[in-house]
Amino acid sequence: MTAMVKADRVCKNYGALQVLKGVSLEIDRGQVLCLVGPSGSGKSTFLRCINHLEVVNAGRLYVDGELVGYEERGGKLYELHPRAAARQRRDIGMVFQHFNLFPHRTALENIIEAPTQVKRVPKKDAVARARDLLDQVGLSAKADAYPAQLSGGQQQRVAIARALAMDPKLMLFDEPTSALDPELVGEVLTVMQNLAKEGMTMVVVTHEMGFAREVADELVFMDGGVVVESGNPRELLANPQHDRTKLFLSNLL
Ligand code: ADP
Ligand code: MG
Repeated sequence: MTAMVKADRVCKNYGALQVLKGVSLEIDRGQVLCLVGPSGSGKSTFLRCINHLEVVNAGRLYVDGELVGYEERGGKLYELHPRAAARQRRDIGMVFQHFNLFPHRTALENIIEAPTQVKRVPKKDAVARARDLLDQVGLSAKADAYPAQLSGGQQQRVAIARALAMDPKLMLFDEPTSALDPELVGEVLTVMQNLAKEGMTMVVVTHEMGFAREVADELVFMDGGVVVESGNPRELLANPQHDRTKLFLSNLL
């Protein structure tokens, strides 16, 4: 079985700044991987590479067996045509720290935007699906609310529903609860936990170690653009092997 994500010595630099220095990891279908590490360690950059927002400079990255960002012809790599990249990207949902909802559209309108515009789903079908998704994230009553009328936790749940509306095979979360007031974190994590239970493949950058311990199948600790250590979340949290991991975890407490 092919992994849903396979990174093989992935490198990414911005000019002279080397951000990813050979990241290798795999995520199987239906698995949840939590990616943790200090600010600046390259976590967002790694997610952005998976989601075609950046192109890797060396190494290989595959989603569902397909090379990301490049195509291989006659043993050589060529940058992927934007149309082909857009097609691959359609199957990946991403949720950001700042929810990035369209401010002048209601919750429901936010959710139907991509399915109707990108996938040409008939509006009636997209609306029915959006209502199901709003129900799934506990916001049936908020279909007609504008983002400014919603709490941060509610906006983030709409953002998750919006990503799910494209029927992604992979969901990426980049610190989805970091911008929320503490009392709103739980409602978002609960939605993510339910999604995991339903078998969604997820990569989650987070500082929520309780979530990592309870929900993740694999915990990866990254620092300075490399994977320092990874493994079963409970084991890694109980018994970190590297000083950098120990320091990072002790600073979270
Ligand atoms: P993390 O998400 O782990 O905090 P990032 O992936 O956001 O780390 O950033 C890693 C490093 O790359 C940081 O030093 C950051 O300043 C730099 N960086 C990120 N994006 C860009 C960019 N578009 N151009 C230049 N430098 C960037
Ligand atoms: Mg980041």
